[in-house]
Parts: sequence; C-alpha cells; structure tokens
Amino acid sequence: IEEQLRHSQKMEAIGQLTGGIAHDFNNLLQIAIGSLDILKRRLPNGDPRSRDLVESALDGMTRAASLTQRLLAYARRQPLDPKTVDVNHLVQNVSELLRSTLGETVRIETVLAGGLWPAYVDANQLESAIVNLAVNARDAMPHGGRLTVETGNAHLDDSYTEQNPDVMPGQYVLVSITDTGTGMTPEVIAKAFEPFFTTKPAGQGTGLGLSQVYGFVKQSGGHVKIYSETGSGTAVKLYLPRRYGHEALGEIHHDRVPAPAA
Ligand code: ADP
Repeated sequence: IEEQLRHSQKMEAIGQLTGGIAHDFNNLLQIAIGSLDILKRRLPNGDPRSRDLVESALDGMTRAASLTQRLLAYARRQPLDPKTVDVNHLVQNVSELLRSTLGETVRIETVLAGGLWPAYVDANQLESAIVNLAVNARDAMPHGGRLTVETGNAHLDDSYTEQNPDVMPGQYVLVSITDTGTGMTPEVIAKAFEPFFTTKPAGQGTGLGLSQVYGFVKQSGGHVKIYSETGSGTAVKLYLPRRYGHEALGEIHHDRVPAPAA
C-alpha cells in the first residue's frame, strides 16, 4: 500500500509540474504561431522558398502545440463527465474507427458479452483510453497481428483486492484490450503508467498514452491492470465502475440517478 501511495503522489507531483510548464510553453508557442501566420500572409507570392520555410516552421510549432495540449489535458485531469454507458456499443463504434486508422496488418476482433452491466464513466475519455491502448498494440505488432477488444461483467473479490490494494472489492464492467505483439518486460510494466516513460524512439512516443488511461480509470473509481509477457503479447484490463439500478442495458433511461457509492 505504501508503494501505491508513493506512486500516486509521484504522479500527482509530475502532473502539476508538467501542467505549469506546459501552460507557459503553450502561451509562448501561440505567440510564435500567430506571428508566423502573419508573416506567411505578408510574403510576396513570388517567393515560394520562403513560404515553404515558414510553413514548415508553422507545421512544427503546431505539432508542438498539440503535444502541450495533451500534456495540459493530462495535468489538468479535465473534470470527468460520467454517464450511464453501454460499453458494448461504445466498443463497437471505436472498433469501426480503429479498423480505418490502424492499417491492414492489424486484425481487429471484438468479443462483446451478452447481458453486460452498464458502466458509469465519461464516454469520451473511455474512447480515448481504448484508442491509446489500440495504438500501443499496433506499435507492438510491426509485422501485424491480432487486436482483441473484449467486454465482460467482472466481480473482483477479496482475494483479488488483497493483491491489488488500490481497488475496492465489487462489481465492475471489464474492457480488455489484448494484442499478439512484442510484450513487455517486468521492468517496463512497472514503469509503464508513469508520464513520459517510453521505450519508443524520439518523435514516436510521448509516454503519455498509458498515463491517460491510468488517470482516467483511477479518477473514475475503477482499476487498470497490465498482463504481459515478452514474445507473446499484452493484455490491458480496464475495470470500470458498474452503474447500479439498471439491470439490463435495454432499460437505460436518462433521468438523473445518484452515482453508486464507491
Ligand atoms: P508511448 O506509447 O508514447 O511510448 P505509453 O505510456 O502509451 O507511451 O506507453 C509506455 C511504454 O509502455 C511504451 O513505450 C512501451 O514500451 C510500453 N507498452 C505500452 N503498451 C504496450 C503494448 N501493448 N505492447 C508492448 N509494450 C507496450
């Protein structure tokens, strides 16, 4: 438990530090982008080389700005907007999106549980989490492979929560994302959720994907766990809080019902 606490305090400190820097940096970038934009419009039409230079500078700065936006979003931990979510439906929609973005070498399978409990989460953040995990899976399968997104009802009992003291025993909606990629060593698993931890070459990884997933799931009152072995692949399991009071997904209505007490 001490270890868990140290970890979450460390994440908090890094988040705050990052937030401050990202905020100032973003302001400076916006000034530079604005000036370059004006410069671009003032350039005479007969000077394509200068135009190219200004455009590539603008391009780089816009990319840097989008990175700082991500940092800010992470540090700010935007307030979540949890709703009753049909996770099967969400997974189906995201998989359609993933099919068109991940490329042909990755086969995407969905295994959707019947009678799935509704979850109580921020749907947009859950979508980003799944996309982040899918992108990691794709990166771990450079020669192709299979990505499986599976849903299920999960009961975490005392024997599980004794091993994982950061989660309360109870009923959760499970989304697991499994790949047949390179897998991770125990050392990488231990650090994977830390912001900026990446094993990818500079320019390819930000080290923020799994931090987003971790922050979102923890803040939602859920739990996330990585199972991975080098050479055989990785499974990331998201345990999302179950929404009580709706026995079946077909019965979802949108009046206000208080959030489940933990
Ligand atoms: P990034 O993807 O930008 O590196 P993440 O926080 O998403 O940042 O991931 C951190 C690190 O965890 C990755 O650099 C990689 O080493 C490892 N990792 C994450 N997902 C997987 C996966 N599905 N298979 C193998 N390694 C992974």
